[in-house]
Amino acid sequence: MATQPSPSEPGPQPIRKLEQSVINRIAAGEIIHRPASALKELIENSLDAGSTSIRVTIKDGGMKLLQIQDNGSGIRHDDLPILAQRFTTSKLATFSDLSRLTTYGFRGEALASVSYVAHMTVVTKTRADSCAWKACYADGALTLAKAGTSADPKPCAGNDGTTITVENLFYNTPTRLSALRSSSEEYARILDVVTKYAIHNPHVSFTCRKAGSPTPDVSTPSSSTTTQAIRLLYGQSIAKELLHTTVSSKTPSEEDADEEVPEESSWDAEAYFTSANYQAKKLVFLLFINHRLVESAKIRKAVEAVYTGVLPKGASPYVYFSLNIDPRSVDVNVHPTKREVHFLNDDEIVERICDALQEKLVGQSQSRVFEYQTLLTGGIAETPTQDNGKGKKRARDEDEMDVDEAEPPPTSQAARPKKMLSQHKVRTSLQDRTLDSMFPVFSPSQQRSGNGSGGGSPNTGTGTGTPPQNAPRVREIKESQCYLSSVKQLRAAVVKGKHNNLTEILQKHTFVCIVDVNKCLSLVQHSTKLYLINHGALAEELFYQLGLRQFGDMSRLRLDPAPPLRTLVTLAVDVEEGVERSKMTRPQIVDCIVDTLISRREMLEEYFSLGISADGKVETLPMLLRDCTPNLDKLPLFLMRLGPQVDWTAEKECFECFLRELAFFYVPEPVIQISLEDMSEQEKAEDKAVQWQIQHVLFPAAARYLAAPKSLLDRDVVQVANLPDLYRVFERC
Ligand code: ADP
Ligand code: MG
Repeated sequence: MATQPSPSEPGPQPIRKLEQSVINRIAAGEIIHRPASALKELIENSLDAGSTSIRVTIKDGGMKLLQIQDNGSGIRHDDLPILAQRFTTSKLATFSDLSRLTTYGFRGEALASVSYVAHMTVVTKTRADSCAWKACYADGALTLAKAGTSADPKPCAGNDGTTITVENLFYNTPTRLSALRSSSEEYARILDVVTKYAIHNPHVSFTCRKAGSPTPDVSTPSSSTTTQAIRLLYGQSIAKELLHTTVSSKTPSEEDADEEVPEESSWDAEAYFTSANYQAKKLVFLLFINHRLVESAKIRKAVEAVYTGVLPKGASPYVYFSLNIDPRSVDVNVHPTKREVHFLNDDEIVERICDALQEKLVGQSQSRVFEYQTLLTGGIAETPTQDNGKGKKRARDEDEMDVDEAEPPPTSQAARPKKMLSQHKVRTSLQDRTLDSMFPVFSPSQQRSGNGSGGGSPNTGTGTGTPPQNAPRVREIKESQCYLSSVKQLRAAVVKGKHNNLTEILQKHTFVCIVDVNKCLSLVQHSTKLYLINHGALAEELFYQLGLRQFGDMSRLRLDPAPPLRTLVTLAVDVEEGVERSKMTRPQIVDCIVDTLISRREMLEEYFSLGISADGKVETLPMLLRDCTPNLDKLPLFLMRLGPQVDWTAEKECFECFLRELAFFYVPEPVIQISLEDMSEQEKAEDKAVQWQIQHVLFPAAARYLAAPKSLLDRDVVQVANLPDLYRVFERC
């Protein structure tokens, strides 16, 4: 018979329901993280109440005292008893109201939360009241100001509006208290919140001061303009470089000029942002959505990307965004603090805003605009399938970088090109290394846009074939977080298979030269030794590891226009030898491969950024390494091989095979080997660009990221000379 465990014996403890006050305190902690977040809620309430003056007083970083005085509508006397109960609000009556709400708060949780983690006092007077009322709160309810008195609100003298005093924040949640930083750091956060709301509400006068200090640290007049507020609060150096733009769902864009915008997806945005002349160390980014200060990693990234091409590395702009969208499209339930927001059509909205930013930035400066990360696949989609070898070659010829001013490629009418997100565009100044220097120039329109190529050989125009002096630094590639045990196992296998000596040789090598592009041989030096390396094998291993490293988080290369998967696979199957021996006909094989890939398109997109649309167009490819574009000649082969080569039934095997195939696709090797004499000018330029990539992108990336496996030593790395041995040879001579 089972015996009851005595309290001293180890054993399962009984499950108890938490006390309501503890639950409320936990819930409060989710909304009020620190003094600045409490203040943010209080400022929003004051603004909701129509205040034109907001005064904030702080003691000890807001932990001892946080007081906010406004001249807004005040709170009705009758409402005071329920003011600090959870879910009491004057802004929301029914659930359907939630979608129509335009004021800031909407859940009636802020004051309740504050009262659970601090001592809160409210003094308030409406215009109609003849006197003010004072009420004290604890744990969501009215409480006694002093022992022996009643908890009811007391009449007192006071101005129209509301003063809320929050004392001893987190006195009853010691862990939260200990997580806070120093009071000066908390005060800095408070100033940041006040400053940002002051920028967004230039018609409201804000002050923020430390208790007892005669001069406020933030002070703005009422009725100034946004630019004036920015000048006052962020300084003249930002204000004088400010650009301004507005854009809305009603602003016609080329794509949907004639489309009616439904009301619930209408939006408008306004931005103030610094030009390329202003450079700060850290990005200052103010984002207001429906007048609430929020975070959106997506928008922040997109903005950063717009500026990557405008500012030198390491420099950042100042950007203030205000976006108003129909409340029906905001997802309010994402986070209790509602700071990180999500909304409908965000991709499109962000794209439009960034385009507007980019346009202004470009207009303001004379440097050129390039689009990158888009490979114009041009002819691939329409290339007829007969005439295989040459057909493929032609597809390659039309693979080109798009330069903004260039004319659109003639083949693009069939599939209307999807508009490129601005974060995929990069602007470079003429002094910087030009992106196109890495790529061959093919189309006549592009040659025209080159800076004075004067119709000479394509090599001379935009610097193609003349490898630039400054190679790009290899960017940091972070290992993505992945909880799949299969991926963890594959990553562990890479670490286990690492050959320390060889890895070190590659880490510290000095590149000497490419010996033979066709045979994929390069020479590198390490200490006193020279090594001949098969860089094809090296690249394959490197790209496999890079794929594994970025699993689930790879950047994308957009194909524009997106070629049909079927056409690509057909191209490859048509030239595949030995198919006659198979039981299936070529079209059946194509069907089988296309079906396999399309049915797994969601997985391919999520894990490998291989985007295939529902109607079977290849929209994006994974980008494993920046500045390293795969040879699109190999795309049909890559896609075809995914069918039979990948084991789609077992997770780990599937991922490994896929990544191996992807790596193979990325190996920079010529598809058709031609000797230098037989090459056309174009092919020579292309050849040089590949060589440049090998030296300046591939080897540096290998030095940084490759855990070289022992297997490379078997065939692909050979020591060809050792300096001391050479001395000995010379001594004998
Ligand atoms: P919410 O803002 O989500 O409604 P809060 O807990 O922040 O919830 O506030 C509860 C209610 O108290 C508000 O709906 C509003 O009616 C009132 N209130 C709070 N602060 C003020 C203020 N400064 N002036 C006027 N009314 C206020
Ligand atoms: Mg509120």
